[in-house]
Amino acid sequence: PPQLRCCDASGCRSAGGQALRAALEGARDAAGLSAEALTIKPVGCLRLCGSGPLVACDGPGPTQLFGGVAPEHAGDLIAAGLASSGDALAAHRLDLEAPFFALQRPVVLEGCGQVNPESIDDAIAFGTYAQLQRVLEELTPEQVRDEMRRSGLRGRGGAGYPTGLKWDTVALQPPGPRYVVCNADEGDPGAFMDRSVLESDPHRLIEGMAIAAYAVGAERGFVYVRAEYPLAIERLRLALQQARSRHLLGNHIHGTTFNLRLEVRVGAGAYVCGEETALLLSIQGQRGMPQPRPPFPAQSGLWGAPTLINNVETFTAVPAILRQGGDWYAAMGTEHSKGTKVFALSGAVVNTGLVEVPMGTPLRTVVELIGGGVPDGSPIKAVQTGGPSGGCIPAERLDTPVDYESLLELGSMMGSGGMVVMGQSTSMPEVARHFMGFSVNESCGKCVPCRAGTVQLAQLLDRFVERRATPADMERLDALCQMVKVTSLCGLGQSAPNPVLSTLRWFRHEYEAACREPA
Ligand code: SF4
Repeated sequence: PPQLRCCDASGCRSAGGQALRAALEGARDAAGLSAEALTIKPVGCLRLCGSGPLVACDGPGPTQLFGGVAPEHAGDLIAAGLASSGDALAAHRLDLEAPFFALQRPVVLEGCGQVNPESIDDAIAFGTYAQLQRVLEELTPEQVRDEMRRSGLRGRGGAGYPTGLKWDTVALQPPGPRYVVCNADEGDPGAFMDRSVLESDPHRLIEGMAIAAYAVGAERGFVYVRAEYPLAIERLRLALQQARSRHLLGNHIHGTTFNLRLEVRVGAGAYVCGEETALLLSIQGQRGMPQPRPPFPAQSGLWGAPTLINNVETFTAVPAILRQGGDWYAAMGTEHSKGTKVFALSGAVVNTGLVEVPMGTPLRTVVELIGGGVPDGSPIKAVQTGGPSGGCIPAERLDTPVDYESLLELGSMMGSGGMVVMGQSTSMPEVARHFMGFSVNESCGKCVPCRAGTVQLAQLLDRFVERRATPADMERLDALCQMVKVTSLCGLGQSAPNPVLSTLRWFRHEYEAACREPA
C-alpha cells in the first residue's frame, strides 16, 4: 500500500515535522482514508537535514521526496502518495537522482529513513536482528571475529584502530567477566552522525553490540549517551525494552547460553567523557578524567575487566558486514581505510545533512558535488574535519581522498565525521580561536600543559583576531602548540593545537597580516 514516510528525527522536528505529520493524519481522516489505504509512517533521518521537514512518498510510481513542506501542504502530499503525482508540490520536490543521493553508499545508514525507530516489528521486517540470530545459531565467536578482521573495519570514533584486532584482544584475555561499551558521547561541534543513527535506527546498534558481545564473551554492556540527546536516549531505552521483551538479548533463544544485559548511561555534559578512559570512570560513578594508558581498556577497563569500546557508527556497521561478508566490506574504500564513512556535512554548503560515502572518495566530491558547494556560488575556502581535534583543509587540496592517512598528512584528521565547509569570508585565526575556546572550556584540568596551555593559546589567538599580535607572537604560537601537543596526557590536549597548526600551515598569511610592525 502507498505510504508517506515522515522524518521524525531532531532536524526535521525542529523544522515543524511533528505538526506536519499531525496535519497529514488529519487530512487522511478528512479524506475518509484508512491507515491501511495510506500509511503515514514516522521514520528517522532522510539525510537532507537542511531541507526539512522531509516527507518521502512511496506511491504507485517511483518514490518522491519533498522538503520544506508545511501543514498546508498536507492535502497535496496525500494526493502525491496516492497518485504518485506531486505536480502541485513541484517547488518542494527534491531530486533523488541528484548527486547528494546518487553518490552516497548507505551501509550504516541503510535503515535510516526506512524504519520506524520506535517499532521493533518494523525493524525486524527490515531484517534487523537476523544477523544476530544467524550468528548465534551458526557461527562461533572466533568465526565472527574472523569476519570482522577480514572486513578491515577501523574504529569510526576517530582513532581508526582496527576493530577486529580490538575484539580479539578483549576475547583473548584470561577467563572472567567482560564488558561491551558503546561510546555515544558525540560532542564535536558540527558532528551529528551518531545522534541521527540513534534516533533513526536504534535496533541496528543494539544488534551490532549484541554480536560484539557474543564475539568477545561479554554478558554486560552499556551505551554511554550524552544528556544533550534526549530523543536519542528515549528511543534507545524504548528499543532496549522492546528487544528484552522479545528475549532477543536473553538466554531463551536458540538453545544458546548467550545472555546480554545492556543498559543506557547518560553523561553529564563533559566533552572529555568521550575519551574512553574518562568514559569508563564515568560509568563507574566516578569523575570522568582520562587515565594514562597502558593498560588499555581492552585489557583492563570497567571494574578492571577487559572492556570492548567502539562508537555508534562502528557497532552499527557490524550487522551489514556479517550479512554481506567481510570481503564485501573490504572491497569498498582504500588499501588502509576500508568500507564507508558517515559525515555530518554543514557550514557554507547548499546541502546540509548526513552523507555516507566509500572511504577514499575525494573531498571535492563530498563538498562540491554531494554538498553542492557554497550557496552563493563562490569558491570554497577550506573544509574543517575532525572538530576541535582536527584541522582546516585548504581549497587547493580538495582532491585529496577522504581516508585516515590522507587527512593526517594534511594536518587534519578524520575524527568522528563532522565536516564544516567554510566560505571566502571566514577568518582562519578566528576559526582557530573558536576551537581553542572550546578546548579551554572542556579541558578536565588534570594536567598542566592542557589546563594552562590552552588558555595561553587562546589569549595569544585573541591578539591575532584583534590584530594586535607581533611577529614574536607567531613564534610563541608555534612553540606553545608543539609543547601542548607533545606533553598533554590525553587526546583532548594532544590534539587541541591542531586547528591552530593546520591554519598556520595553510593560511599563515592571515596570521602575518594580523601582526602589527614592531615599534
Ligand atoms: Fe584533562 Fe586535558 Fe590533561 Fe586530557 S590533556 S587529561 S583533558 S587536562
